[in-house]
Amino acid sequence: MIEAKHFIGGEWCPPSNGETLAVLDPSDGKPYSRIARGTAADIDRAVRAAHTAFGGAWGAASAAERGRVLYRLSMLVAACGEELAQIEARDTGKPLKQARADAAALARYFEFYAGAADKLHGETLPYQAGYTVLTVREPHGVTAHIVPWNYPMQIFGRSVGAALAAGNACVVKPAEDACLSVLRVAELAAEAGLPAGALNIVTGYGHEAGAALASHTGIHHISFTGSPQTGKLVAHMAAENHVPVTLELGGKSPQIVFADADLDAALPVLVSAIVQNAGQTCSAGSRVLIERAAYEPLLDRLATAFNALRVGPWHADLDCGPLINAKQQQRVWDFLSDAQHDGIAMAAHGQVVADAPESGFYQAPTLLRDVPASHRLAREEVFGPVLAAMSFESEDEAVALANGTDYGLVAAIWTRDGARQLRMARRVRSGQVFINNYGAGGGVELPFGGVGHSGHGREKGFEALYGFTVLKTIAIRHG
Ligand code: NAD
Repeated sequence: MIEAKHFIGGEWCPPSNGETLAVLDPSDGKPYSRIARGTAADIDRAVRAAHTAFGGAWGAASAAERGRVLYRLSMLVAACGEELAQIEARDTGKPLKQARADAAALARYFEFYAGAADKLHGETLPYQAGYTVLTVREPHGVTAHIVPWNYPMQIFGRSVGAALAAGNACVVKPAEDACLSVLRVAELAAEAGLPAGALNIVTGYGHEAGAALASHTGIHHISFTGSPQTGKLVAHMAAENHVPVTLELGGKSPQIVFADADLDAALPVLVSAIVQNAGQTCSAGSRVLIERAAYEPLLDRLATAFNALRVGPWHADLDCGPLINAKQQQRVWDFLSDAQHDGIAMAAHGQVVADAPESGFYQAPTLLRDVPASHRLAREEVFGPVLAAMSFESEDEAVALANGTDYGLVAAIWTRDGARQLRMARRVRSGQVFINNYGAGGGVELPFGGVGHSGHGREKGFEALYGFTVLKTIAIRHG
């Protein structure tokens, strides 16, 4: 494994100041690897390398050639899927089966954008007599990608896959808590034939390497995924240089269950949407809004399911792994202690297995009932396996509850009534709405992003390619 080096200009480079950071295994809280502590000098070197690639071999590659490189990369990722999954599972703490799904999604992102690369085109526009007007979609140039620790491979893939397909050269700052898989993918990209400098990775802290990247005058677009607070900082830095920015900042996503819904189908999805990745998912279904008539029966079934959940180290491959670090664990404890203090009832909780190391960052999945709409547990992102249950009497009340947070990333509506499905889908303020499912199995093809404090701009699907290009209008006067 490559340790404590950046990937810049197609080479492994030691950090400019020689400093490194420890990487902890969330399953036992102990250091097991090191990464380079990136500085502004490292970022500057990476941005220069990206400019060289954009002005050289990568910029000169045709759309079809870019697609071929990405396709080879998708094949290499698929071939190394188990290795990548093991790296990711240990680094993030997630159960191995979830990391395997992430590796498969990474391969799929590169495959999808490989196919899309030469299908991105402009238009001809009807205009005055004597003119022909056309639009062309051009890459921004050098794009910056700031990636969080919860899904390093997937978020890297969706952002970098689209940016490369569109012809940009990328500089990536993955999260200090989990970035080893992304470094391995950089090696695979070189093996796939990606020219040196088209993809550069600088590791390190957000306030150091991340801030240096977001404020660098040599970048032309920023894609950021992480917390609303950091997103705001990044947007300010982007504004200083008039650089467009895509922000994906999390949510407090509701699953709205009407009494006529297929509760057998809904139940496992309600549980997995908050338990997946120990709730550390921007699109986690962290609120369940249940029509009064179905509230008690569904809560009983949810409680039984939560009580059966088991939490343990990544290699035990249980329902849940540990949280990423002690800070995140403390954050979840703070929310739960507020719930206890404010008299919110815990309806059920899972169990951390007895042989899980005490020094790991474990948290049992927890179901809270009758959470008041005004409470922070109904409004703020916990980013842990905590599900807040609330009841409603009418569609209007369900909409008011669903839209009662600053966020708007994902929502689900469970009902057999077709007219209500559409009515609710249109009334809920959210970037994605799922009817009688949640997440549609990942959906590499499906545009993803939020409104309000969930951010703006869209990643995934073909839509992402528009964000990673600039539209140029060319008007030709020919008489
Ligand atoms: P964060 O937003 O601080 O970190 C995300 C990324 O931004 C990391 O790569 C980090 O190094 C970088 N970063 C941090 N400070 C920066 C700065 N000043 N300039 C540029 N880049 C910077 O998130 P966190 O502290 O790791 O987690 C805190 C909370 O963020 C979580 O509890 C959760 O609510 C939220 N979060 C959301 C997502 C998501 O997918 N939406 C992912 C991770 C965390």
